[in-house]
Amino acid sequence: MYGAGFQHSGGGLSSAFVPSLPSFSPVLMPAARTRRLALNCAIVGAAWVLGTAAAEPAFAKPTVGVEDTLLVVPDSLRGLSGAIRFMALKPDRTAPEQLESLLDLFGLDALSSPGIHRVMDPVSKEPFSFASLVPFTEKQDGKVGVYRVGRWPAEVRRPRSEAYRLPAGFIEVTEENQHTQVSTHFTLGQFLTKDQRDVWPKMLLLDERLVDKLELIIVELRLAGHKAPGLNVLSGFRTPQYNARGKNSGRATDSRHQYGDAADVFVDADGNGKMDDLNGDKRIDTKDALAFVRIVEKVEQKYPSLVGGVGLYRAVPGHGPFVHVDARGERIRWGIP
Ligand SMILES: [Zn+2]
Repeated sequence: MYGAGFQHSGGGLSSAFVPSLPSFSPVLMPAARTRRLALNCAIVGAAWVLGTAAAEPAFAKPTVGVEDTLLVVPDSLRGLSGAIRFMALKPDRTAPEQLESLLDLFGLDALSSPGIHRVMDPVSKEPFSFASLVPFTEKQDGKVGVYRVGRWPAEVRRPRSEAYRLPAGFIEVTEENQHTQVSTHFTLGQFLTKDQRDVWPKMLLLDERLVDKLELIIVELRLAGHKAPGLNVLSGFRTPQYNARGKNSGRATDSRHQYGDAADVFVDADGNGKMDDLNGDKRIDTKDALAFVRIVEKVEQKYPSLVGGVGLYRAVPGHGPFVHVDARGERIRWGIP
């Protein structure tokens, strides 16, 4: 059903398998050396696939690893916020010149196997992750591998627009790679559907534009004088089967959460598990969510390419007020008094 690479997150190339390697040394290596490292990685990957890796894998010995796989990441991949640190490798959206560099670094086999391929950018001195997707066609009987996802609306009727067509594929999230930074303030794991807790790997859709928008919201919150160490993601990606369970509690059948470009968020700098008192009236209520909505409005005014849905949700027993944000490309509002 799947290639070996699917089950092993792209083999030795995944950052998850080399957590204890020495940290990146900011010395630019000649291209030939970088390529040789990539080849070493490919061999290590093969060893893993053959099942030779144990709890203390023999290949953990080398003094080089993915941290040393250098690639200058173009600014265009860092988003409008400059904070993006990942890109899903969709064959139809990847510029040929970038794909060529990646092929050179990782090899065709690794790059076509689902997994996270991490490089170190010698300019920013920050890691950047490329995610090779599990093709959507791997979905069988509503499951991808062992993980239940259900059926997307476009599988049963014509999509109402481009934004609602079937996804190209999924990011495979393992227990090990879930902590991969997708941007300065967010990790892959924060956007996972909150179900099937002990089932791994899980499948994720995550649009870089959503993450970019959330990063810009953090910037705007700070400009407005608020503490914003990050944002709490109450709900990010929702598989259709999970989304369908909440239809009676207000989840839309066509919810953008099923496409990876929506998140329900709040800011919680004081760590009490609820939206902060953004309007300063010593109460946590709808007015604070409204202040958050105004912040999102400012981001959309400054960056019209990231427009989308904004919905306000008042506090109910179980959670405080929060705001739905998406980057669907069309301005839409709901729940705002
Ligand atoms: Zn939502």
